[in-house]
Amino acid sequence: MSNILGFPRVGQNRELKKALESYWSGKCSQQELESVAKDLRAKHWELQKHLDYVCVNDFSLYDNVLDVAYAINAKPQRFKDLSGLEGYFAMARGHKNGVACEMTKWFNTNYHYVVPELSIDDEYKADASNIIAQYNEAKALGYKPKISLVGLFTFFGLSKIIKGEPADVFKKVKSAYLDLIDELVKIDDEVVIEFSEAIFVRGNDETLGNLRCLLGTSAIECIYNVIPEKGIKTIVSTFFEHSNEFTELLLRTKVYGIGLDFVAGSKNEQSLEAIGKSDKVLYAGVIDGRNIWVADLESKLALLDSINKFVPKERIKISASCSLLHVPFSKAGESKIDSQILLWLSFASEKLQEIAFLDKLFRGQDSAALAFLQENKAINAARKNSDKTNNKAVRERVKNYPHKQRAESFKERIKIQKELLNLPILPTTTIGSFPQTSEIRALRLGYKKGEINKAQYDEGIKAYIKDCVAFQDEIGLDVLVHGEPERNDMVEYFGEQMEGFVFSQNAWVQSYGSRCVKPPIIFGDVARPKPMTVDWITYAQSLTSRVMKGMLTGPVTILNWSFVRDDLPRSAVCEQLALCIADEIDDLQKAGIKIIQVDEAAFKEGYPLRAENIKEYERWALECFKTSTAIAQPQTQIHTHMCYSEFNDIIKTIEALDADVISIETARSGNELLKIFKEVGYANEVGPGVYDIHSPRIPSVEEIERQIKALLEVLPKEQLWINPDCGLKTRKWEEVKPSLEHIVEAVKKVRASL
Ligand code: GLN
Ligand code: ZN
Repeated sequence: MSNILGFPRVGQNRELKKALESYWSGKCSQQELESVAKDLRAKHWELQKHLDYVCVNDFSLYDNVLDVAYAINAKPQRFKDLSGLEGYFAMARGHKNGVACEMTKWFNTNYHYVVPELSIDDEYKADASNIIAQYNEAKALGYKPKISLVGLFTFFGLSKIIKGEPADVFKKVKSAYLDLIDELVKIDDEVVIEFSEAIFVRGNDETLGNLRCLLGTSAIECIYNVIPEKGIKTIVSTFFEHSNEFTELLLRTKVYGIGLDFVAGSKNEQSLEAIGKSDKVLYAGVIDGRNIWVADLESKLALLDSINKFVPKERIKISASCSLLHVPFSKAGESKIDSQILLWLSFASEKLQEIAFLDKLFRGQDSAALAFLQENKAINAARKNSDKTNNKAVRERVKNYPHKQRAESFKERIKIQKELLNLPILPTTTIGSFPQTSEIRALRLGYKKGEINKAQYDEGIKAYIKDCVAFQDEIGLDVLVHGEPERNDMVEYFGEQMEGFVFSQNAWVQSYGSRCVKPPIIFGDVARPKPMTVDWITYAQSLTSRVMKGMLTGPVTILNWSFVRDDLPRSAVCEQLALCIADEIDDLQKAGIKIIQVDEAAFKEGYPLRAENIKEYERWALECFKTSTAIAQPQTQIHTHMCYSEFNDIIKTIEALDADVISIETARSGNELLKIFKEVGYANEVGPGVYDIHSPRIPSVEEIERQIKALLEVLPKEQLWINPDCGLKTRKWEEVKPSLEHIVEAVKKVRASL
């Protein structure tokens, strides 16, 4: 009696990624793509065969939210004439007929879904043929399928309404969605659908608040009565947090089962009594679908026992806490990770095994399961006591570290810095990276593979830095950067130089479409044995008389973009990271670097889904950032950077970070995002991006001038820096050069007019 909500679909060796990219570039046919997809599905089902069902429709050529949009023909007007895969990929990736739909993060994960665009003018029409085909495919192979489907409320709640009253649009969407269900009912007599309704974990915050008053809670009850009444065995699952408000509601409906996350949403335990009294089957998400550590089966059994106090065994199904989409395929091929640490890891395939054995252990004696438990106990004990995870010196240092915040106030600091740096009004800079050319990628790869030696590698990187600095000098930027040619990723670069991290060869996780990321794994106490950036930055500084900005990734961002050990609180791991960054700052300033940027690109991303948990996250994340920068002398100017965020919700926290300068990504929203800085009386300096680097176009001098003037309407000139948005590394030199020249030109004009 065991279950998962979905399995990673890119394949053990990213087969899907390769097939997709080859299809997009015209190198393989639709048929070939579909045959790769079919093979992957079959392979993944085979791994799931011991579960109650195998998951169908968790597979997608791009994204499951997009799949639902496509299945009800919710296509934006600009793609109306496109059909089949052409229409599907147009929404995901753009087409000559129009730009792609927006993409955004799936709750608090690093997976991105395609945001459906809904309009009252649309004619929705259900087409379940794709789902039915996959269902029949599984059946033909002898498996018992369960359909995974994004629930109506989550689908609607995550969509963008382009035109019409939301309630009216909802009616149309609902009717098409129910038509889809009608088609699915017809497949056979035992159709099971698991609806993912992750939006319910947002509780009563605004998003769902809106949804509720828009639809009334009765709409939710109504839909989850109607669907079971059609003859569907209906399971509604939530994940990433508790969903107690909605569990209560769902218990009043005719659904067969409710899936809850007991890993990220331990408060779900509050619903157990009510579940026990109902007739519902509980899909107990006890195996972590978001992390990669071996489960501690003993503690999982204890958790199941506590669930069992309320819910009888025959109504408990052992499940993963969420779709396994968020973990890599299998650790089988990893040959470079320390063999002991490898034992502590569990990826999707290994989790299937844990679920199966946990189920057996929960239900009674089974010798194979008992042996598995013994082994599991030994692994967990070894991990707990390993000196690989415990570094006494690090723990002591964190406990006694004296610098929690900078000694001087911003007012005092900025006065000293202004005198020392002597920058013009509206100083110009960039966010750090410059174009990653194919030569520079080849250089890094060649070095990694041992094809070139350290001296050759250093020479190549230095040549890049030299060109990069010369260019910035020449066009007259005020604060320069070295360009980050030595980094393939802003987290991996630092992780690779710290103790406590390991890197997999193949632990890819889907980020969006064919794009996968390979997050670093933090397994033990984190320490920095030696400087990580000082050589490159001081080299860059030696090439110019202008100020060179040192470039670091902040502790919160390193944490949020890694797989983090689960045997310490995240906050404790973050504190250790903070000290590593503090040491780096200290070494940089001692080496004569006057400005240091600590990027916190993923600060916002770590925010909890539920409002009630935000304060706690903000408290420690803020503390860690401040600890990491507290070592800076008053004359060292600390910059930070955050990517596109809703700053309104977090402005107080940004203020409390107390960075001397913050650069933010704003170009896409004009000066709207900036207004909040004025509203709250933000006093430190701000560099709002003046042009959007996400498209290949080159902004004109006039356009940038207008943008700067718009910024000046919001904030005084003394407070403003001028820079582009982040991510120059993704652009070509041909685009970056003229764009930055135009920035400098525009700033000159504005300065003259002031
Ligand atoms: N310094 C990094 C860069 O410019 C920041 C990247 C980011 O904000 N995501 O590439
Ligand atoms: Zn950014």
